[in-house]
Amino acid sequence: MTPLKNYVLRKTTPGVIAVCLVVAADIIRTRAQKLPNVDEAGIAKWIDAHNSEALALLERVVNINSGTDNLAGVRQVGALFKAEFDALGFKTTWIDGAAFGRAGHLVATHSGPGPKILLIGHLDTVFPADSPFQKFERVDANTAKGPGIIDMKGGDVIIVQALKALNAAGVLPSMNIVVVMTGDEEDTGRPLVRARAALSDAATGAAAALGFEDGDGNPSHAVVARRGTTGWILTTTGTPAHSSQIFQPEVGAGAVFEAARILDAFRTKLAGQAHLTFNPGVLLGGTSVDFNKTQARGTAFGKTNVVAEHVTVAGDLRALTVDQFAQAKKTMEEIVAQSLPRTHAEIVFDEGYPPLAPSAGNSELLALYDAVSRSLGLGAVEAVSPDKAGAADVSFVANKVPMIIDAIGLKGHDDHTPGETADLLTLPVQTKRAAITLARLAAGAKK
Ligand SMILES: [Zn+2]
Repeated sequence: MTPLKNYVLRKTTPGVIAVCLVVAADIIRTRAQKLPNVDEAGIAKWIDAHNSEALALLERVVNINSGTDNLAGVRQVGALFKAEFDALGFKTTWIDGAAFGRAGHLVATHSGPGPKILLIGHLDTVFPADSPFQKFERVDANTAKGPGIIDMKGGDVIIVQALKALNAAGVLPSMNIVVVMTGDEEDTGRPLVRARAALSDAATGAAAALGFEDGDGNPSHAVVARRGTTGWILTTTGTPAHSSQIFQPEVGAGAVFEAARILDAFRTKLAGQAHLTFNPGVLLGGTSVDFNKTQARGTAFGKTNVVAEHVTVAGDLRALTVDQFAQAKKTMEEIVAQSLPRTHAEIVFDEGYPPLAPSAGNSELLALYDAVSRSLGLGAVEAVSPDKAGAADVSFVANKVPMIIDAIGLKGHDDHTPGETADLLTLPVQTKRAAITLARLAAGAKK
């Protein structure tokens, strides 16, 4: 088999991606079998035998508050994982986050002859330092609650534990692995391009990327496509005048009717398209408007007998592919440009989160993961609808890595709430699936 590194992705041109896809798919098809020199049953057994150690690590990291804005807490969790990777012989680096207003990221690299595989976690949670929800708490033998227990400290622990199992089996030394645990997944620093530079750099040349988010909580589900999301602000202006003169040629329709025209045209022209949604979330209009975008709040002043001069609308837009985004934006911009008499309108889109578009490579990786799960006696794993998968860090490597899967972390329910709960039985299950998938991926480039 030709070594994969000959096909390292240098540019995100469609042709190069196509070559990568073909090669990646070829590796999976021809090499996704259990190799005789890898003791998969032994790896699974090791994971069961050492599960209490993974649980202890999970409890330790959950008990450290790492709300995105608690920079010291995020760094502390990062230091704990760094020590785990150091012990496994990884080269570890802390990327300082000052340039994008966050704690930073942990990057751990293990060089080896295998195809490069990127593993993605995050260190932060949505629970700030002053949240009442702070501690790991056992509910019963198989269940525990805790801030970030499934989103996604459980996934981070699975990464570590799978690599430990592969090390114990003698597989790790030949593997080419880079782990990135971001410190700001829940509230990404800006500018995004800077906040995700380390992740993007780590993805260069990777044959596969695996994200360990909790997904929809169902252990039979994984994610191979996520919609991207971007915010937009629509502003319209009208010609102020006494209300009795509205629609006269010198007064026109006013800012409120112009905003209404635009929003209704968005709905009639774009609503109902598969995987595309857009939602105006807040609207202010009148003679004057004061909108604070960061706080998503504001005030408006206007009189019923005065034609409105200003409207501000803030909304979001979600799409499954870069092309779908581009088409929707174009349509929205065309609608905005067709102003009613004596009005003007503008729409500005945020930089946004990119989509993880479905691809043949992603499906191939899911097929491998599913085959691994079945061979372990752990049942089938299928793709969840992209409409139910929000934006996540894997999306930022979507245009660089030919095979991507996500939501293969610890499972449970109620993430982002004080009821965040883990199904602890899924800890060894997800660790085994990940470890054997990595072993088979790594075997792909061996002669
Ligand atoms: Zn998450």
